[in-house]
Amino acid sequence: MNVSLSQRIFFFVLSCCLLFILLLASVTWSSYAVETAFKRDNYAKQLTNQTYRLKQLVANDNIYDANYNLEHWHALEVTLTNLLQSSPKLTAQQQTIQMSLQSQNENLKSLFTLINKNKLKNASEVIKVHLKTRLMTQLEAIQSDSLQLSAIAQKDIYDTIQRQAFLIISVSVASIIGLLFGAFSLTYIVRKSLNEVKRAFEKNQSGDFQNIQFSHHSQEFDSIAQAFNTMNKKLSDTTVSLTVMKEVVEDRTKVLEQLSNTDALTKVANRRALFERANMEFSRARRAGTELTLLLLDCDFFKKVNDDFGHLFGDQLLVHICNICSQEIRDVDFLARYGGEEFIIVLPHCDIAGGIETASRIQSSLAKNSLTINNQEIAITLSIGACTLSDRHKHLEQLINDTDQAMYQAKKNGRNRIEVLRSTNLH
Ligand code: GH3
Ligand code: MG
Ligand code: MG
Repeated sequence: MNVSLSQRIFFFVLSCCLLFILLLASVTWSSYAVETAFKRDNYAKQLTNQTYRLKQLVANDNIYDANYNLEHWHALEVTLTNLLQSSPKLTAQQQTIQMSLQSQNENLKSLFTLINKNKLKNASEVIKVHLKTRLMTQLEAIQSDSLQLSAIAQKDIYDTIQRQAFLIISVSVASIIGLLFGAFSLTYIVRKSLNEVKRAFEKNQSGDFQNIQFSHHSQEFDSIAQAFNTMNKKLSDTTVSLTVMKEVVEDRTKVLEQLSNTDALTKVANRRALFERANMEFSRARRAGTELTLLLLDCDFFKKVNDDFGHLFGDQLLVHICNICSQEIRDVDFLARYGGEEFIIVLPHCDIAGGIETASRIQSSLAKNSLTINNQEIAITLSIGACTLSDRHKHLEQLINDTDQAMYQAKKNGRNRIEVLRSTNLH
C-alpha cells in the first residue's frame, strides 16, 4: 500500500490525540473511583460516630426516668436512620453489611420503643437492666458493623488508588511507547529517503547516472524519484564522460592531423608533410654525417593523358603511380606528392647508387603494370632526378633544387630516364 507522508503524519497526530484522550479518561475515571472510595469511608466513619454517640447517650442518660426527654434519643436515632438511607454507591460486600446495619437499626428502634412504653415504668429492675443491656448490645453490633464497613472502605481506598495508579501508568507507558515508535518510524523513513536522494545526487555528480529506488515508498518521495530519474535519463543520454570525450578528441585530432598531412587524391603525404619529414631527415643526416638521397619524379607528357583520356583517368593514373612507388620503397623511405604530377621520395641512409636502384625499380614496375582504359593499355613513364646530400647543401631547398635540376636533365635527355646531378651540371 502506497501511503503518502502527509497521511502518515495525519495518522500519527490522530494517534497522539486518541492516546491523550485515553490518558485523560483514565485520569478522570481514576479520580472518580478514588473519590467514591473516600465517600464510602466517610460514610462508614459517620455511622461509627453516630453509633458511638447513641451508646454514650444510653450509658449516661437514665432512659427509665419518668421525665426523660426523648428528643435527645430521637435526634441521634433519626440522623442514624437518615445516614443509613443516604449511603453512597457501595460494593457488593459493603451492601451486605449495609443491609445488616439497616435491620439492626430497625431492631434498635423497636427495642427503644419497647423500653419507653408506660408499662415498663413499673417493671422490675432486672428487666430494665436486661433491656438496657440488649440496647447496648444492639448498638455495639451496629458499631461493629460500621467499623467493619470502615475497614473495608479503607482497604478499598488503598486498592482503588493502587489499581488506578497502575491503569494510569500502563496507559502512559503504552502511549509513550506508541508515540516514540510512531515518531521514530516517521523520522527513519524521512531520513532514509533523504539519504537515498543525497546518495543519488552524489553519484549523479560523479557521472554515475543511477536512478533512485526508495526502500520505503511514499507518494511525496516517489514523485521526487520519478522527476529525478527522468532528469537522470536525459542527462545520461546527453552527457559524455570526460574519458570518452578525451578519446573522441584524440581520435578526431589524429584524423585531422592525418588529413592535414595527406594528399586528398593519392592518400600519400602532401607537400606540408614532405617538408616536415625531409627537413628532419636533412638535419639528422647532416648532424650524423649519414647518407641522404632525394628522388624527384615527374610524369612524362601528362597533359596529353589528360587531353586524350580525361582528367578523371589522369587522377586514377596518379593514384596508380603512387601505389607502384609505395610498393618499391623501404619502410624508412618517404613518398610525398610535391605538386601536380610530381612526387619526391626521401631515402635516408641511402647513397646515390641506392637512389638510382630504387628509381629504376619504380620505372620497371610501372612499365610492367600499366593501367587500362576502354580495353586500351596506357603506358606512362617517369623522368626521375636523383641527388645525394653533400657539403654544398646547407638547406633542404638547395638539395630539392639540385634534384629538380637532375629531373630537368632527364626531361632534356629524352624522358623516361634517371639523371643524377653531376658537378659538371651544377649551376
Ligand atoms: P612533361 O613531359 O614535359 O612533363 O609534359 P607534361 O605534359 O607532363 O607537362 P607538365 O609537367 O608541365 O604538366 C603537368 C600537367 O599535369 C598539367 C596538369 O594538367 C596536369 N595535372 C597536374 N595535376 C593534376 C591532377 O591532379 N590531376 C590530373 N588529372 N592532372 C593533373
Ligand atoms: Mg610537371
Ligand atoms: Mg610532366
